[in-house]
Amino acid sequence: MSKKVIIIGAGLGGLSTALRLTSKGYQVEIVEKYHQAGGRLNQIKKDGFTFDTGPSFFSMSYEFTELFDSCGIKNPLQMNELDPVYAVYFANRKDPFLIYKDLKRLAKEFAGVEDRFVKKAKKYLKQAKEVFHDTEHVVVKRNYDSLVEYAAALVRVPLKHSPLLVRTMWSELDRHFDSEEVKIIFSLVAFFLGATPFDTPAVYSLLNYTELQHDGYWNIQGGMYKIVEEIKKILVERGVTFHYGVEIKSAVGTDQGISAFVDQHGKMWNADLFVCNADAAAFRGHVLKRKKFSNKKLDKMQWTLAPFTIYLGVKGKIDNLHHHTYFLGDNFKGYADTIFKTSVSPEKPYYYVNVSSRSNPHCAPEGCENLFILCPVPDLRFKSDWSDRETLTENILKDLSKRIGYDLIENRLTQTIFDPIDWQDKFNLYQGSGLGLAHGLNQVAALRPKNKDEVYNNLYYVGASTVPGTGLPIVVISSKLVTERIEKDWPQQIAKEPSKSTLSKEFVK
Ligand SMILES: Cc1cc2nc3c(=O)[nH]c(=O)nc-3n(C[C@H](O)[C@H](O)[C@H](O)COP(=O)(O)OP(=O)(O)OC[C@H]3O[C@@H](n4cnc5c(N)ncnc54)[C@H](O)[C@@H]3O)c2cc1C
Repeated sequence: MSKKVIIIGAGLGGLSTALRLTSKGYQVEIVEKYHQAGGRLNQIKKDGFTFDTGPSFFSMSYEFTELFDSCGIKNPLQMNELDPVYAVYFANRKDPFLIYKDLKRLAKEFAGVEDRFVKKAKKYLKQAKEVFHDTEHVVVKRNYDSLVEYAAALVRVPLKHSPLLVRTMWSELDRHFDSEEVKIIFSLVAFFLGATPFDTPAVYSLLNYTELQHDGYWNIQGGMYKIVEEIKKILVERGVTFHYGVEIKSAVGTDQGISAFVDQHGKMWNADLFVCNADAAAFRGHVLKRKKFSNKKLDKMQWTLAPFTIYLGVKGKIDNLHHHTYFLGDNFKGYADTIFKTSVSPEKPYYYVNVSSRSNPHCAPEGCENLFILCPVPDLRFKSDWSDRETLTENILKDLSKRIGYDLIENRLTQTIFDPIDWQDKFNLYQGSGLGLAHGLNQVAALRPKNKDEVYNNLYYVGASTVPGTGLPIVVISSKLVTERIEKDWPQQIAKEPSKSTLSKEFVK
């Protein structure tokens, strides 16, 4: 018989692992706390508008291609490359900077701001490119069984990159560029990692290479939730069952491993193998009751910022809003110094806006637009009271209306807000942290919560807080790494059309 696997969580990590495992003959069942699949990559349908709840673009599109190719499926997603990749508004400047991959075109945006931009950017991005390619396969896209293995991998990274471990991202940008504008724009990626550019190591300049040179940024025709719908469709065809509204609360373990997980109603979920797509650190603490992951220990770890998100449907078409736009305030250093730890809502918030109805008209009624506004805020350790959520929302909408010259409050037709408490409660995001565990050098690769459990030999992890890390393509890589582990530990004969020569060896373990 084929091995039965229960996956806890129907986020992208759980879904892509299910796709890979079913392709290899494992029998999969999925339990999910929320009322539909997708996790953070979810969808709200309200008052004739459709909103993607979280991710709105991604880098490394080839990881999705690899996922479907390796499962023998034609990629069902229409992926569109963004050009410009995004736009950035500064508080003291009327027009945005449009960020293009084409450096000559980008140089025109920085005319009068940064001299000899192309020459400087080429030098900076060449170095970032080398870091990316020297670490991608050697350090990032692999499993580790021990710290010794990790040390051996690090030794294989060319020594010339070591100064980038000591310098910060900001100081590295400062060595290459003169204008605050270029330095600020190039350093925005640091916030995704869970730190400011003033304390993020300069090796992460490789992210500038991924966004500006390598593969750029992409989104999905029809909306980001298509990713979930398409994968789910294939899984259902393959006989995978989904159980929603099921929250795993505890485990029944034996010397042989986990025999069952238990949900909020006391129902036991039995299988041969288990893959946890819930946060790999918090699950170990809350469900497995591991002391190393107690709330006290979890609170000492570094977490990425929490999302404060507004889903706004408005009457009218807004011409001067680009597909992806950052709106920055006027005190970048002050913002960076306080944003992770303040307990008060920012009066002049920095935020990001995505209008998916620009390229997917079906997401809004005719003559209307759907706005997704994301304002990164401190996680619940630092700001636990969100009774001021309406005030922050009005602040953002007033600021945005002024900057785009369109009264969003006057034209508002529908509005939904998710504050960090909502994000925590809906998807079990620890302290409402949006991207999960941060990526400081003490929380990467072999130093991140492992994708194979330390105690139970039949429990594995996939997703943002295990290896390699957070973000859609990285979570897809995570599903590849965990599948490799499972296949190695529990080899499975491909159930579909087994060749005659292998029939007698079916189901090795
Ligand atoms: C607002 C926001 C914007 C983002 N924007 C981008 C972006 O533009 N580009 C990008 O690449 N990334 C972005 N990200 C990050 C990206 O969404 C995540 O890295 C990725 O979706 C994580 O997928 P996952 O499968 O690891 O986790 P999740 O999506 O969190 O899935 C885990 C699932 O497990 C379920 N679960 C948890 N605990 C239990 C339990 N005990 N029992 C049963 N089920 C459980 C949860 O409900 C959830 O459905 C964004 C994230 C947020 C929050």
